[in-house]
Amino acid sequence: MSGELHRGDVAIIGAGPVGLFAVFECGMLGMRAHVIDALDMLGGQCAALYPEKPIYDIPGHPRIDAAALVDKLAEQAAPFHPTYHLAQQVERLAALPQGGFRLETSLGTVIEARAVIVAAGVGAFGPNRPPLAGIERFEGKSVFYLVKRREDFRGKRVVIAGGGDSAVDWALSLAEVSAQVMVIHRRAKFRAAPESAARLQQLAASGAIELVTPFQLHGLEGEDGALTAVIVADLAGKTRRLPTDVLLPFFGLSMNLGPIAEWGLALERHHVAVDPATSQSSLPGVFAIGDIAQYPGKLKLILSGFAESALAAHAIFPLVRPGEALHFEYSTTKGVPGR
Ligand SMILES: Cc1cc2nc3c(=O)[nH]c(=O)nc-3n(C[C@H](O)[C@H](O)[C@H](O)COP(=O)(O)OP(=O)(O)OC[C@H]3O[C@@H](n4cnc5c(N)ncnc54)[C@H](O)[C@@H]3O)c2cc1C
Repeated sequence: MSGELHRGDVAIIGAGPVGLFAVFECGMLGMRAHVIDALDMLGGQCAALYPEKPIYDIPGHPRIDAAALVDKLAEQAAPFHPTYHLAQQVERLAALPQGGFRLETSLGTVIEARAVIVAAGVGAFGPNRPPLAGIERFEGKSVFYLVKRREDFRGKRVVIAGGGDSAVDWALSLAEVSAQVMVIHRRAKFRAAPESAARLQQLAASGAIELVTPFQLHGLEGEDGALTAVIVADLAGKTRRLPTDVLLPFFGLSMNLGPIAEWGLALERHHVAVDPATSQSSLPGVFAIGDIAQYPGKLKLILSGFAESALAAHAIFPLVRPGEALHFEYSTTKGVPGR
């Protein structure tokens, strides 16, 4: 337990792309931010789930890899000297009698701030794990729930389980570098984007990928965390042994608001309900932006979160600097410290 006490203008819960941009927007209005994330790195979903995937709908970037976007957002936030508290979850949020809020993390860090921005994405997220006996012995060694670096699988025999976009996209991508790619799905039809599903069938027809359908995961073989084979079973219980080095189960993410659900904020279907004009939640002084924020017409896109960051920062300014006039200024007029 660190037990450190920090004071700042704004506490931002979540260092995903939207939380990072909120540092910039708050900084432009002269407000210093503390940013807390449960992950040990910046970037939220972009860094944890798809760092090497190109994103095509970030304005001004016709194509940018998710990890590169995170780097650029961190660079854009840097002149405002945010304090990052990583690898710790915000567990408690309480209003202070004198105004403002007190946050407490799983490591015992305490942060007091005039306003809070919840940029917690989908909350605490984790993979849906297949119910296979002893799978934990292989996790992180030869069973992975996400691909951080495609190169890690070069020359390896890979079994992918799942029928959605992740399973199909990674099968197509790894077919270019892996020694062998097998895809197990309990149905013959894949739920992925039609173009990707069609490409998968083409690669299967050419022998570049083997489709193992309709089969489900049944068991794992191997020692000391190193897989030697995956056992699959069809609906009649007939089993097949697939020799492999790696298993990638892609059964989606389980999403859980975690402690945020206990803070008394009005929720709407596991999201924080906000006023779309300000991004303020039902608790004055607490704002929500990005994937976690819900209002009519909400689009869960990074670009929506960026706009919400600007709205929240402007709405927070009078709370942090009461009595000071806020003059709306373009960044071209105002400039950025040190740039
Ligand atoms: C495969 C894939 C492809 C995508 N492609 C696109 C695309 O092309 N374009 C697009 O616009 N969007 C895309 N998205 C969606 C995009 O990634 C999200 O909209 C975006 O990440 C939301 O950003 P965020 O900052 O709101 O939340 P997140 O990125 O989810 O980050 C939230 C952070 O908050 C942290 N957190 C949560 N609760 C706590 C807590 N209590 N204490 C401390 N930390 C906490 C989490 O650890 C996480 O790091 C894609 C998503 C996926 C999965």
